[in-house]
Order: sequence, then C-alpha cells, then structure tokens
Amino acid sequence: MTVNVVLRGIRVIDPLAGRDQVDMDVWLRSGRIEAIERRIRTDQAPTLDLARAPGLPEVVLCPGFIDLHTHLREPGGEAAETVQSGAEAAAVGGFTQVVAMANTRPAIDTPERLADSRRRARLAPVRVLSAAALTLGLRGRDMVDTAACAAAGAAAFTDDGRNAAPTRLLAEALRAAAEVDRVVLVHPEDEAMVTAANPDVPSVMRCPHRPPDCEVVAVEQALRALTQAGRGRLHLQHLSCAGSLELLRTARELDFPVTAEVTPHHLSMWLPFEREPDPPSLRKVNPPLRTEQDRRALVEGLREGLIDAVATDHAPHPAEDKVGDYADTAPGMIGLETALATCLTLGGMGGEWLPTLVERLTAGPWRVLGAAAGLREPRLRLGQPCSFVLFDPEEEWEVGAEPLRSRSGNTPLLGVRLRGRVLLTVHEGTIAHLSPALELPGLTAIPSA
Ligand SMILES: [Zn+2]
Repeated sequence: MTVNVVLRGIRVIDPLAGRDQVDMDVWLRSGRIEAIERRIRTDQAPTLDLARAPGLPEVVLCPGFIDLHTHLREPGGEAAETVQSGAEAAAVGGFTQVVAMANTRPAIDTPERLADSRRRARLAPVRVLSAAALTLGLRGRDMVDTAACAAAGAAAFTDDGRNAAPTRLLAEALRAAAEVDRVVLVHPEDEAMVTAANPDVPSVMRCPHRPPDCEVVAVEQALRALTQAGRGRLHLQHLSCAGSLELLRTARELDFPVTAEVTPHHLSMWLPFEREPDPPSLRKVNPPLRTEQDRRALVEGLREGLIDAVATDHAPHPAEDKVGDYADTAPGMIGLETALATCLTLGGMGGEWLPTLVERLTAGPWRVLGAAAGLREPRLRLGQPCSFVLFDPEEEWEVGAEPLRSRSGNTPLLGVRLRGRVLLTVHEGTIAHLSPALELPGLTAIPSA
C-alpha cells in the first residue's frame, strides 16, 4: 500500500529535534515524509485539508511511539496474544517500537530463547524488541548469562511480573547489565509484604491486596541495590503511588541513574470506580489502581519529567482468566490500542500538555533504554524511511465498537467513548495501520484484510 498526498494544516511535533509547529503542510509519498513546509505546492500529489477551525486542536504528526512494557504472551500464551496480534494492536495505538517482557512460558532466560524471540519478531508490522529475564525462570535465585543474552539481542533485563530477587542479587545484576550497557527494569512490589497481606491466596501474582507500602518498600530496596552496585542503570516500572515518587525525587536529586514509567491506566483511573466493570476483575492489575490523590501525583510527576515515560503494561488474558472469584483472577489489562486516548481523555493530557505527552511516548522511553538496546531514535526524517504517527486529538471513538486487534479484550474501557485517535502509523516506511476515519486521496493498492 502506498500513499501520495499533501496533508494540510498539521501540527508537527518532534521532541528530539525541538520541533513543535502548527499549520504545516506534510507531503507523504510511498510511506516517506518528502517535505514538511508551511505551504507545499506540488502538482504531483493531491491535497487533503485537515486544518481545524481556530482554537481547535490540530491533527498531529510525530515520531512513532515507543512502549517500554508490553506482554505478548508468545510462547506459551498464544490464546491471549501473539507477537503478530500484539504488534498489530501496537500499530493501531501508534506504537512503532515495543519492548516485549520476558515472562512468557517458558521465560526468556537463555540466549537460545532470545534468539527464538528475535525470530518471531521479524515479520511483525512494528519493531518488537525482547527483554531478557534477570534470573532463571524469574525465580530470583540464579542470574541469567547477561553477556550471552545481550549478544543474542536482549534490549534490557527484567523479571517483570515478579520481584523475587533479593537486594544483593539485584545489585549483582545491575553491575552485570552495566557491563553490556543495558538497563535493569524492576517491577517494584515487595513479594513478602504482598503474601502477608493475602494469607489465603497461594499465587503472589494474583493476590488482590497490595497496599502502597508494598511498592514503596520495593522501590527503596531497588535504590539500595543500585547504591550497592555502584554502577548500572535502574528503571522503575509502572509506579502507582505518591510515596514512590517521593523516593524517586530524592534519588534523582542525588543523581542516581534511575528512571521511571507510569501506565495509562494509573494516569487515568482510580478506586472506587464510579461504575464497576463486569466482571470487576477487568480493573484488577498489578500494582493496583490507587486513589485519586495518587493519580494526580503521577500525572504531575509525568508532566515535570520526574517520570520519564508512559508505558502500557499491555497485559492480555483470555476471558476465562478474568471470571470467577476475584482473588483467583489474573491481573492486568490490555492497553496498546487505548493508550493515547486514555491519556488524552481520562488523564486530561490534551491542550498545553500535548507536546509533553508526545515526548513521554517517544523521546522519553528512547532515553530510558539508551542506544545500545536496539531502539531506533524517534525522529522525523525527510526523504527516507522512518517511523511516524498521525493522530487526531479530538476524534471520538468507542472502545470495542470496531474489533480490537489484540486477541484479548480485558479492559474496563470496553464501551467507553474516548477522544483521540491514531489515523495513520508508518513503520520504517511501510504503512502499519490506516484508520478507516482517514480517507486518503492518492492511496493505491488497499491491502486485503
Ligand atoms: Zn510488572
């Protein structure tokens, strides 16, 4: 599918280039950006006027989004998601690079399994990177061979889903990962505290009661490990409460090499829910949704740059894992397709916020992992294949009205109307997603579904 069109009246945001311009013309041809100028006159392409009335937010062109935290469930959980279906969901959400977590079945904890993951990612419509586990089987006992895993393509190291490694082992892992210039991603929840709060639940991952202190203490331990390591880079995943931000702030002031992410759901939802989803486990997630106060602190932390990135923690599950006794149901919700709209509509990040949000979805996550991880620098490049997204911050849509690309539907947002829609996602010069809402003149060879 190729395209040849001049889009008129576009806002162009490219954070790494320090660019934010309104009312621009963008010439797209064959999946490339040929030109970005105030007015492009060409007799070679039709013009599509997307200009908005004064005062209304313009359609935005920016580099493709990067998701630091995606669960693709392959191998072992293909009923919930595959690399292909997850990558398609990513494209619908405007993501052109995603980092797949290592907690598949089996876990990605050897160079051979990493090589398998890399092979599976090859045909995906967006760039899928693989994180390696930090410890064998995520059990927190024996470290993986970090050098061999990095050589096999590990973008980062993480036991995400679990946090069983003691501080001493985490310190050792931070040092080993530093040797290969990789970041260690930590799911900060103290498992002993979680287990103590749920004496009758056998699976630490499914425990429903996870007080904020479980996270705060785990953040403290991770920072202590970083101090013990004396080197390395630590990234705190899916922070959910104000207490964690205070520790992060202090660590940053002391120049600790620590970064952090927040999910769209923690930025936009809190408990109690106004209308409980059916089943209620659709809102069950680790760490749990917290209070409106926590949510506000996270939004503020993201705005000021204390939190570096929005990361989805896209966690697909088959429907049967979400029904039954709440304590037994699986935690997690899908998020790739709704991330942008959730932040804009429910997180209140439109308006003056918009360029910051784009930064936290592009340049922010790129900085977290660093160049060695294998991410492409998120920049708009003219005349050559690059990854970009076109989105309309105003367009409304209903979640689930069109079938989701994810194989799973576990989100409390089903049936909810959101504002903000990705119109076009181009991955390295190839169209990965084209919304039916965007009628492009000059479009040829529409692909079969
Ligand atoms: Zn996690």
